[in-house]
Amino acid sequence: MNKDYDYRIKIILIGDYGVGKTSLLLRYFDDTFTESYITTIGFDFWDTSSSERFRQITSSYYRGTHGIMILYDVTSQDSFDNLKTWMQDIQRYAPDTVNIMLIGTKSDLISQKVIDTETGEKFAEQLDYPFFETSSKENINVNDAFETFFKQVGTRI
Ligand code: GDP
Ligand code: MG
Repeated sequence: MNKDYDYRIKIILIGDYGVGKTSLLLRYFDDTFTESYITTIGFDFWDTSSSERFRQITSSYYRGTHGIMILYDVTSQDSFDNLKTWMQDIQRYAPDTVNIMLIGTKSDLISQKVIDTETGEKFAEQLDYPFFETSSKENINVNDAFETFFKQVGTRI
């Protein structure tokens, strides 16, 4: 246990395959970006890469979670529509007190954007989730999203 920290918090990222979960983590923690899909990650940070393809998200993945970042890709209608399914998993498996943030990814892909900012904002507002549109590629809003999230989680554990 690292004595420099008072708390160890568990945060997970969820959302469809390819929305950019791994990329967001790599941008924030390593300040890197790659165009290829990355299926493993070495951080002490959970990523759904191994199980998401089969949607076999088990209760153990969500157990003891303080914060969940739920991601959709602004260029993918499916990834936005599937938020409902991810939220059902949260309701089923995550602690009631969990903090949730909504992230629209790949905001640099302006010409391919199909989910406009207002649509994301409205969705988040109805649920009282903080909302950010981010680009891991161009490093837009990534730090702001994580810092807002850590503050939110830190004040509510
Ligand atoms: P994951 O399956 O949710 O972990 O998604 P990945 O992080 O592996 O990203 C899937 C693909 O989307 C990769 O080709 C990434 O390079 C790409 N990608 C991720 N984030 C961005 C972004 O902010 N902008 C763009 N243009 N591509 C991105
Ligand atoms: Mg991944």
